[in-house]
Amino acid sequence: MNMQSLGPVISTENEPRKAGRERMRALNLQIVLQIVHGEHTTTRAEVARTTGLTRATVSSLVADLIDAKLVVEAGVAPSAGGKPPTKIRINQGGRQLALLDLSARPFRGLLVDLLLQPIGDVVLARSSDDHDTAIENLVERLTSSATSSLLGVAVATPGVVDADGVVVEATNLGWVDHPLGPRLAERFEVPVLVSNDAHASAIAAHAELVRQRRSTGVATGDLLLVRIAEGLGAGIVLGGGLHLGSHRAAGEIGHVVVDVDGEDCRCGNAGCLETIASRAAIVRAIAGTDAISPDVTLDMLGETYGASRVAEALKRAGVAIGGAASVLVNALDVSEIVVHSASDGAEAIAEGLRGELGRRVLPALRPDLEVRTMSDPNLPLMGAAVLLRQDQLGFVIA
Ligand SMILES: [Zn+2]
Repeated sequence: MNMQSLGPVISTENEPRKAGRERMRALNLQIVLQIVHGEHTTTRAEVARTTGLTRATVSSLVADLIDAKLVVEAGVAPSAGGKPPTKIRINQGGRQLALLDLSARPFRGLLVDLLLQPIGDVVLARSSDDHDTAIENLVERLTSSATSSLLGVAVATPGVVDADGVVVEATNLGWVDHPLGPRLAERFEVPVLVSNDAHASAIAAHAELVRQRRSTGVATGDLLLVRIAEGLGAGIVLGGGLHLGSHRAAGEIGHVVVDVDGEDCRCGNAGCLETIASRAAIVRAIAGTDAISPDVTLDMLGETYGASRVAEALKRAGVAIGGAASVLVNALDVSEIVVHSASDGAEAIAEGLRGELGRRVLPALRPDLEVRTMSDPNLPLMGAAVLLRQDQLGFVIA
């Protein structure tokens, strides 16, 4: 949680005792904000009851949040005798978030409000620009169309990303130690959060499942998401939070060797999962060549090469993913598995994956295994937004 995030709300003090008080106040602001966010509408009295803070403290904190355009007053609640209390809720349009997804070409951008509702349509980068120019132009277009001040920029990118937003390695984009986050923060003077696209997608899928199940009260704290895009990666949610690992590289399953006699991989090994189950590998297995347009659909390939050949390639991809995923499922005891692909064929892959997990996962874990597919192309964007909001405002999903 970033204590400096509510910087516009609080002033930074150098004196230690004052600094301690400021930190406590920032933490209290985040707690109040979390309650207001979770309730959607509440009252100052309700916040005081929930937090144990005094009414005066809550009133002062809420006043700061209203000044910061994060909370608004929203009519009155029924009176319990005396003056009816004023309702408060998140100021949905008070701040906006600029989101970027670099995991597929062309790069995509979207502006959303504080409750992550889109403002306008997805914008696409010009394919003639180099990566950095395309990214800066996208952020420029998003920020110039924003109608309230930006909470920040959130980017989902392929590759391993360090805590400072430097992309340590992204083979698909040809990046090594690329200072994407610091560069954007300097250029646009806003907080920037960069995360791996599979990590972002996993937290977005988790948020979506929590939302869907809010009425049934079934908790889904653990989730494994396998994302099939230009590359292949996974995101792991444990206990409701993203599991990053020591090098923030958790879930890099694309280069797990699943076939020792397999094809050479761009990483230098052979038989990596990515050589069988990435979108490019599936198309190559069907057509026998790499020279196929990325826009070609599986139906079009089926007409040329035969539906059975398409089905076979998808099943093989699902079985290979199942081999790698079963190790994670057994090791972490995760029962919720999501296959995310914005392209067609995800259901056939999931079918192969289900079969393989059914064979390889510990018998005790099998009855609760749920393998579902998600196809929303905006999943990485939404996940990046969830992570930025969490980092800047301390919102947890709920
Ligand atoms: Zn590899």
